[in-house]
Amino acid sequence: MPNTNYRQYKKARNAAWRTLIACGVDTLPVDLRKICGQLGYELYAYSKAGALIAAFRVEDQARESDGFTVVYEGVPRIFFNDAAPIGRQRFTIAHEIGHVVLGHFDAGRFAIWRRRAPDPDAAETQANQFAARLLAPACVLHALDAETPEAIAQLCGLSITAAGYRAGRLAQLRDRNKFLIHPLERRVFRQFMPFIQSRF
Ligand SMILES: [Zn+2]
Repeated sequence: MPNTNYRQYKKARNAAWRTLIACGVDTLPVDLRKICGQLGYELYAYSKAGALIAAFRVEDQARESDGFTVVYEGVPRIFFNDAAPIGRQRFTIAHEIGHVVLGHFDAGRFAIWRRRAPDPDAAETQANQFAARLLAPACVLHALDAETPEAIAQLCGLSITAAGYRAGRLAQLRDRNKFLIHPLERRVFRQFMPFIQSRF
């Protein structure tokens, strides 16, 4: 993996751990409403936010994608398509949280994702890396022996496709015995310990 890619990946991974720690997330499936509340982000389902979508003039975004974020006067507002399957909704919201946490927005008064990213592809990859690690923390899945796509999908509220990618990644980490090396991951693990114990 080239160095810039690895740096970007590490930034996404560490941001996911920091978010879990800062928001006190200690159970699966990860409560995204709680995270948004803790971070001061607003969350809107398309089906209920028609008036706001019109006011921000983001009808095109709502038509063309399953989620987007408007940062207005410093407050991130995440919109998501609540007609999509629930696993997809969750991944979309986590992906959008990633864009904000990773600083993909202008700090200006009004910013809409997709329009102003300097490198849209790199930012998309990074937001996906963040989302997968926020929703399915590897150390917790490993401790619970949740290794199949089905087990991960069920435990984390992910689509079977996203859970399949995560299962592949987990197998790599297992082969290299790469768990609980980073101090941030150890803190996440400690935070989830009562939950892990409750599952035995
Ligand atoms: Zn995106």
